[in-house]
Amino acid sequence: MNPLTEIKFKIPFDQVEATHVEPAVDELLLDANQRVELAAADPNPLMAIDTMTERLDYALNVVRHIESVATTPAFRAAFNAVQPKASAFYSSIPLNEGLWKAIQKYAVSEQGRSLQGTYKRFLKKTIDSFKRHGADLDPAGKVRLKEIDVALSEATTKFSEHVLDATNAWEMVVTDEAQLKGLPPSAVAMARASAGSKGLEGWRFTLQGPSYVAVMTYLDDARLREQVWRAYNTRAASGPLDNRGLMVQILNLRREKAQLLGFKDFSDLVLDDRMAHTGERAQNFLKDLRDKTEKRFREENQELEAFAGSKLEPWDISYWAEKQRAALYDFDEEALRPYFPLDRVVSGMFEIFGRILGIRVTQVNDMPAWDPGVKTFEVRDAATGAHLGSFYADWYPRENKRGGAWMDAFLTGNPAQDRPHLGLICGNLTPPVDSKPALLTHREAETIFHEFGHLLHHLLSRVEVRSLAGTSVAWDFVELPSQIMENWCWERQALDLLAGHWETGAPIPEDLFQKLKRAKTFRGANMQMRQLGLGYVDLALHREWDGKEDVVSFSRRMMQPFAATPIPEDYAMITSFTHLFSSPVGYGAGYYSYKWAEVLDADAFTRFRKEGVFSEQVGRDYREKILARGDSEDPAELYRSFMGRDPDPQALLERAGLAR
Ligand SMILES: [Zn+2]
Repeated sequence: MNPLTEIKFKIPFDQVEATHVEPAVDELLLDANQRVELAAADPNPLMAIDTMTERLDYALNVVRHIESVATTPAFRAAFNAVQPKASAFYSSIPLNEGLWKAIQKYAVSEQGRSLQGTYKRFLKKTIDSFKRHGADLDPAGKVRLKEIDVALSEATTKFSEHVLDATNAWEMVVTDEAQLKGLPPSAVAMARASAGSKGLEGWRFTLQGPSYVAVMTYLDDARLREQVWRAYNTRAASGPLDNRGLMVQILNLRREKAQLLGFKDFSDLVLDDRMAHTGERAQNFLKDLRDKTEKRFREENQELEAFAGSKLEPWDISYWAEKQRAALYDFDEEALRPYFPLDRVVSGMFEIFGRILGIRVTQVNDMPAWDPGVKTFEVRDAATGAHLGSFYADWYPRENKRGGAWMDAFLTGNPAQDRPHLGLICGNLTPPVDSKPALLTHREAETIFHEFGHLLHHLLSRVEVRSLAGTSVAWDFVELPSQIMENWCWERQALDLLAGHWETGAPIPEDLFQKLKRAKTFRGANMQMRQLGLGYVDLALHREWDGKEDVVSFSRRMMQPFAATPIPEDYAMITSFTHLFSSPVGYGAGYYSYKWAEVLDADAFTRFRKEGVFSEQVGRDYREKILARGDSEDPAELYRSFMGRDPDPQALLERAGLAR
């Protein structure tokens, strides 16, 4: 028996071996292909479409997960061997002509036309998605679409290779120790080790994140900072690694693709099934926030110049901001650690959301896991006792586990049919050391809340169509349920439930809490402007750039209104902006989503603020109208049903300290 070929709620993690992966995926691909054919022959193909890849999805979820958290060379090889087959299968679905005909036929049938609610939406979304993938094109159009996709995938791969190579090609070696003034010892040691690894004397600085950030934040020598800043912001902008040509090619291909599929531009194609719907609306959203941020932005920069006592250049900003921060807030994140033992944070979180959402989370010990450190939990409805779902929590780093924090789904159930959901949350949090419990930073506690929010979106789903359940929602909506959770980490009453000194149980001292809050909004307008500028240039490139102006100078012109200082002539940050250009879609035309979701979460939280951060009334409403609904309704409608109105950016401005 291959443990991957049968869906099991208690996934046999203790039995899955690398040798199971290929045979299972091959078998399930055959199975899924047969189901696609069956769906195409079904007079009502909709239900079949919803479930035809379920077994394959399950096996691939488990395999992908093991590759992320408990990989071995053999497992990685097996994973890499099945990846191309699986993605080729998934992308073949919308181009299956038999299936497309069956859907169209069903859509005009009496049954298809009489669909209501979730099923009606599922039919429409299926048709739209098939069209966006080229199902409706004539044969020549389909050929061209395929050519475009191949060309895009090549150009975007080359774009990120250039960025990587350009980043690695640059170094600065300092041999005079006096020039290192200002750097913290850890950064000096890192630079020394870097030089040593290249057989060099002195200290070596690079454009890799940790080295770059340390120099820009701490190095006293402004001339060296300028050198590093210029190198960083002209990566892949000249010579053999110049990305200009690739950007032009990618933007043109994306526009051609959008127009081939009947859209005005690439942003309208990408945003068609997102909450913003059109590029114009997303861009106006950013403009509006820029206008509301501008005043405080200027003030912050005037305050910084006054503090520095001189006119500032772009490479001076982080440096002086750090000096100003240290002068204004003698706040050290580390001082909070003793108050956030992981077990207490987690049990406090379960208690808070147990109360608010009417659920009960309990640990269970009868589910095999991939590592002895993994814990398993069950979520039940507090009123009925119904089993809503279960999940795994894997908090600490390991060598065979990837970095970061994330949530994922294994199984999408249907509580109405007594089929619970199954999901997981993973992190790389500070592990326990020296017989002390794991002591977290405040930011780490927020991370746990964030991922738990994604998880609840999955576990509390009551959507009967699998494809529209849980977190399968628009990209600019999916971070609402996660980010909103972080708000509780800033409420004194809630903090007292999840934080307490690990030895004495004492709550966080009030002055420490106040410092934490003040430090949060330090230069909030600058942080916001940076994100707005990146989102704006992304949409401007995909909507407004017409090929006549040099793509780098166009980008510079678009970004200038969001910058704290005049941008130098050679500034070319855009040629290394991999978010936008390193995959066929990626964040292209979607970078605005970060801010969009922040507006939603800050605004939605105001209902809890007004009616009580522990309000069961608001909590039940939130569970019923947002968490339970997945993508069963237009997210804008879901939002309105919870708030009684459209989103208002005011709450975000207040939270970021911009509404004084
Ligand atoms: Zn998230």
